[in-house]
Amino acid sequence: MNIDSIRNGIVIDHIQAKKGMEIYKALKLSELDCSVAIITNAKSKKMGRKDIIKIDKNIDLDVDILGYIDPNITINIINNDERTEKYHVELPKEIKNIIKCKNPRCITSVEKELQQVFVLTDKEKKAYRCKYCETLKED
Ligand SMILES: [Zn+2]
Repeated sequence: MNIDSIRNGIVIDHIQAKKGMEIYKALKLSELDCSVAIITNAKSKKMGRKDIIKIDKNIDLDVDILGYIDPNITINIINNDERTEKYHVELPKEIKNIIKCKNPRCITSVEKELQQVFVLTDKEKKAYRCKYCETLKED
């Protein structure tokens, strides 16, 4: 794959430097059967340094995971050598099954089949609380 040009695929841009690998793992990109390129520490006028991920295929992205890891990411969709779509991710209001509640008395610790749901309670602080017991997410 020529990493500068993708015919059909996705470019995840403006990733905070050093977070590319975390996103690669969270999105399970190693399980794809197409080329995936991670560029780390690319020069950026806006950010100084940034990471970029290029995926040589149009896949369904989990924008909640992306927004949760880094809400400043830009997604570019490429079709036939042209960028046909560009959008920003956001800090999701609710995240499911991404993090686990640490409270041993939480119902999700007892009833394993329950979904792990966290709700955004403070956008500035990026604070999430368990939907069931309101325990704050630990960093
Ligand atoms: Zn809980």
